[in-house]
Amino acid sequence: MSARLFDGAAAAAALRAQVKAEAERLAVQPGLGVVLVGDDPASAVYVRNKTRACEEAGFLGVTARLPSSASTDDLLASVAALNARDDVHGILVQLPLPPQIDAQRVLDAVDPRKDVDGFHPVNVGLLVQKRPRFVACTPAGVMELLRREGVPLAGRRAVVLGRSDIVGKPMGLLLLHADATVTVCHSRTRDLAAVTREADLLIAAIGRPGFVRAAHVKPGAVVIDVGINRIDDPAQARELLEPQRLDAFARKGSALVGDVHFPEVREVAGALTPVPGGVGPLTIAQLLCNTLSAARAARA
Ligand code: NDP
Repeated sequence: MSARLFDGAAAAAALRAQVKAEAERLAVQPGLGVVLVGDDPASAVYVRNKTRACEEAGFLGVTARLPSSASTDDLLASVAALNARDDVHGILVQLPLPPQIDAQRVLDAVDPRKDVDGFHPVNVGLLVQKRPRFVACTPAGVMELLRREGVPLAGRRAVVLGRSDIVGKPMGLLLLHADATVTVCHSRTRDLAAVTREADLLIAAIGRPGFVRAAHVKPGAVVIDVGINRIDDPAQARELLEPQRLDAFARKGSALVGDVHFPEVREVAGALTPVPGGVGPLTIAQLLCNTLSAARAARA
């Protein structure tokens, strides 16, 4: 048996088209402000993808760039400037921030009505109380994918692997609110495979290439791979990549893989998200959705 692959890119394209159509009907142009610090290449790529997606949806995209030597006060000033702009409805601070920055203070300074990443304590609290305003984009994107693919959740056993504020915790809450029976696992969980094998739905978000093996997965389970990991070891590539991706790996010297051992789990799971092309594109589409909601709320 080979798992059905969920097409995150197609789901994201549909969602983006929907957002674009709704934005055109709005009397105001939605605007997203991004704060980018330093010159980390991965962050630069993420920010470029986000601002490009904004432009394609007809949104205003504003990027505030600061040098890697920036102080917490410099960032607070950038955030305050975006908070004050009427044409910027959503703000995100690209993570990670350099070590000298007090990241918590900076994230807390984002106006909660513009916090399209859903990281502000007010928005986290609203999610906990099941009256969400802005939900972190990756777990929100996973929910959208599950909805579009018709995955039943009520009464099902869901296991979330990872407990970060950005993915694992909000993911667990969203599944709980969808009436799944949720277990959240982490690095201190004992006999992890026995827990994950209980899952009808397994969400992997730990940041370890190919960690989830066939032995972690109940036959027929839906497996969502949130991980995005760059590998450059040819032996690891031979193990984790499908044969048709090995040429590209040889050319580039690296490849992106998830937290799930794709070739192995594909033979056990009922459905699986690929990396790339699974959850990643939905994260950006969800950011546009949140920015659209922020613009709509600002008009109300
Ligand atoms: P974090 O590093 O913040 O959290 C990782 C979590 O995994 C922690 O809770 C940690 O446990 C747990 N963990 C680590 N190792 C193990 C292990 N061996 N067994 C069990 N649990 C373990 O990562 P993020 O949540 O930010 O990201 C997770 C992955 O998702 C990464 O690959 C990241 O690149 C990707 N990602 C993808 C996005 C997308 O758009 N698709 C967006 C955001 C992230 P503990 O708490 O005990 O340390």
